[in-house]
Amino acid sequence: MGKFVYSFSEGSKDMRSLLGGKGANLAEMTRIGLPVPYGFTVTTEACTRYYEEGRKIGDDIIEEIYEKLAELEAVTEKKFGDKENPLLVSVRSGSVFSMPGMMDTILNLGLNDETVESLAKLTENDRFAYDSYRRFIQMFGDVVLEIPKSEFDVIFDGQKEKVGAEYDVDLTTDDLKEIIVGYKALVKKAVGRDFPQDPKDQLMEAIKAVFRSWNNDRAILYRKLNRISDKLGTAVNVQSMVFGNMGDTSGTGVAFTRDPATGNNKLYGEFLVNAQGEDVVAGIRTPKPIAEMAEAFPEVYKDFARIAEILEKHYKDMQDMEFTVERGKLFMLQTRAAKRTAVSAIKVAVDMVGEGLITKETAVERIDPAQIDQLLHPTFDAKAEKAAETLTKGLPASPGAATGKIYFTASDAEAAVESGEKAILVRQETSPEDLAGMVAAEGILTARGGMTSHAAVVARGMGKCCVAGCSEIIVDEAAKSLTIGTDKLVEGDYISLNGSTGTVYRGQIATVQPELSGDFGKVMSWADEIRKLKVRTNADNPKDAAQALAFGAEGIGLCRTEHMFFEEERIPAIRQMILAETEEERRTALAKLLPFQKSDFKGMYEVMEDKPVTIRLLDPPLHEFLPQTEEDTRELAAHTGIPYEKLAQTASELHEFNPMLGHRGCRLAVTYPEIAEMQTRAIMEAAIEVAAEKGVDIVPEIMIPLVGSKAEIADVKATVVKTADACKEEAGSQMKYHIGTMIEVPRAALTADQIAEEAEFFSFGTNDLTQMTFGFSRDDTGKLIKEYEDKGILSDDPFQTIDQEGVGLLVKMAVEKGRQTRPNIKLGICGEHGGDPRSIEFCHRTGLDYVSCSPYRVPIARIAAAQAAIKDAEK
Ligand code: PEP
Ligand code: MG
Repeated sequence: MGKFVYSFSEGSKDMRSLLGGKGANLAEMTRIGLPVPYGFTVTTEACTRYYEEGRKIGDDIIEEIYEKLAELEAVTEKKFGDKENPLLVSVRSGSVFSMPGMMDTILNLGLNDETVESLAKLTENDRFAYDSYRRFIQMFGDVVLEIPKSEFDVIFDGQKEKVGAEYDVDLTTDDLKEIIVGYKALVKKAVGRDFPQDPKDQLMEAIKAVFRSWNNDRAILYRKLNRISDKLGTAVNVQSMVFGNMGDTSGTGVAFTRDPATGNNKLYGEFLVNAQGEDVVAGIRTPKPIAEMAEAFPEVYKDFARIAEILEKHYKDMQDMEFTVERGKLFMLQTRAAKRTAVSAIKVAVDMVGEGLITKETAVERIDPAQIDQLLHPTFDAKAEKAAETLTKGLPASPGAATGKIYFTASDAEAAVESGEKAILVRQETSPEDLAGMVAAEGILTARGGMTSHAAVVARGMGKCCVAGCSEIIVDEAAKSLTIGTDKLVEGDYISLNGSTGTVYRGQIATVQPELSGDFGKVMSWADEIRKLKVRTNADNPKDAAQALAFGAEGIGLCRTEHMFFEEERIPAIRQMILAETEEERRTALAKLLPFQKSDFKGMYEVMEDKPVTIRLLDPPLHEFLPQTEEDTRELAAHTGIPYEKLAQTASELHEFNPMLGHRGCRLAVTYPEIAEMQTRAIMEAAIEVAAEKGVDIVPEIMIPLVGSKAEIADVKATVVKTADACKEEAGSQMKYHIGTMIEVPRAALTADQIAEEAEFFSFGTNDLTQMTFGFSRDDTGKLIKEYEDKGILSDDPFQTIDQEGVGLLVKMAVEKGRQTRPNIKLGICGEHGGDPRSIEFCHRTGLDYVSCSPYRVPIARIAAAQAAIKDAEK
């Protein structure tokens, strides 16, 4: 038979999974001799058995609980229900991973009609004793007996009204006694029996209630959001009560060993004389800074500071502690690793390495990669954000904070910015023509589109705040207004966007600029020493490339050449190219594009010099480039001299029902080789010129997209090789170059051994690979996927975190098959997953050479790659 109950003296911090975080730390503090009110922990395994046995606590476990209770009575020299010296306990949940406020707690258990009087005598405070009793009945009634809190409130508020009390504290002891009578009557009426007077009954019922609370709605939701397994169960901590409200030599407080906001190495916290924890939480009284405790209780303060130091050294991490002082004696009620801001996390990690407390590996392991974002983008002033009114929520498409006036077209946003305004561009969904407006705006808000929609991808590339797929918003571009339910906002109204949470607020919110301190650089350099994966960036202009380099990128893993045509002056030329009916017409348009492309590539090589740059041949889903409106088409007609009707006719012929699966990627180069020719020429000429000008070695990497078969890549490759070799000959250059492919069509993964005969490198395009493996449209399924997540059909959005079981299997298979054919094949990933920490861990395990992500995710990827390597080494 197992053991299901542990006294605090029997456990340790290493027994977290059995005792829960709180129980394990209470045991650890007891073990190392710190003052902890004595108690015991009913284990998470007991919780599991409770559920297995049909929500019952087994007799053997009950027996163990009573044994430990007897031990508790002996240690405290108090007794359950004793009239002289009654034992009162708190009953609290404590799961393996902290779930703050999600489950239930009961305080002052052991109070009944008799012990309340003893408590009054002991505390010399009748009012406090009766107030504790009425709170206990209410808490017990709510948590254990499941009587709605509102029914207790009716009685409480009724009494206040009856005696004309404005505040709770105006109620006298007699008022409280009357309330207790009312509460007990309510209990009897609601559950058909009296409020339990026997503390042992109270205890067993409370333990069961804590077990039940593991499965309350908010706990289930919290676990889902934080990826905590439903199977773990909660432990229950039963601990003797200490009182911080026994007069002016008592008090209570919460403190951190360092400042959780800044990381400064100084005790930080709050303290209240003559109070219980609840008073702090309820905001009835304002706590004082912990430093003032040194004046109120110099001896106790010294003791507390000493204990804080012991705990931090012992756990080798910043601690968050709760304590109570009862009549001049200090008791520790909790300690745990402190939650902290990114700034604080970095400073504490660096300082602790300097203090010899932790290794560089531990320092890197402790950084939450998702938090790094906070350091790279402006953020909202925390207080101002809290006070702001939420309008709606969308997808957190690109992190950061933006505040400004709303504009509904790119040109209106641009004009507003030119006249000195701060603009937020609001669109139903963005298209390439919106680029200039996106660049000008502080942030972008779209009603449609998912995490890999145009707006999201482009915004992330620019490091610009974006909230996408905000389905509650109805955009009326013509009327220059938007509605959210009954709210209507018009052009010029202020809104604020939090791109890290997806929240949209009404009005302006103050922002704070990021500062990349020296500590940040230090942690990053440690990560670089540890990681095995290289980190490249997805960038298609020199500015983004330079930004990524500043963030530590080691190359470009994906330069999307179609993005280079988003600029206004180029769109007509690329449209002309797409709408050309003959090769000759197409070549005319391509000739116009060549100088643009060449200068673009020169710009990229000038920034990247000898670092690897993978340039992908054109992959435009046609719908992103066709003229959208009659006005666009007329403009193009005027520009090219082709009659409007003819252009409109061609555009409608080119219309595809499923452009993502249409005439894009290498299919374009197969049917129109002259496009690949022009691009190869632009790449080679640019590389040859920059290499000569700068005296650096450049080895172009030319990537063919959307390949599904060996024959397909061979066809395009022949064009590329012929053109590249011609360029070399013309320039008298010996430049080497590599030709590779995206693996983004499932068939390519399945036949990767054959494709590797032609490809020198693979780059996994997991955006399309996910789209085609699931059959989920990248641009349309944002809302659907959210519903799937809510229903538990999907545990994650597969466009954000790689689906390891399915899509990941294809990646693994392609890695193996690719290496079989070409052992030194270079392998990387350039889908959005390249910047997602969990996907990066997968890439490390799968043996890729590099990940490539948008510039602002480069630091995140460096940390995540190092953490993956540490985890791997620990195995
Ligand atoms: C991909 O499909 O993962 C990819 C990187 O290409 P794109 O997003 O441009 O389709
Ligand atoms: Mg793709």
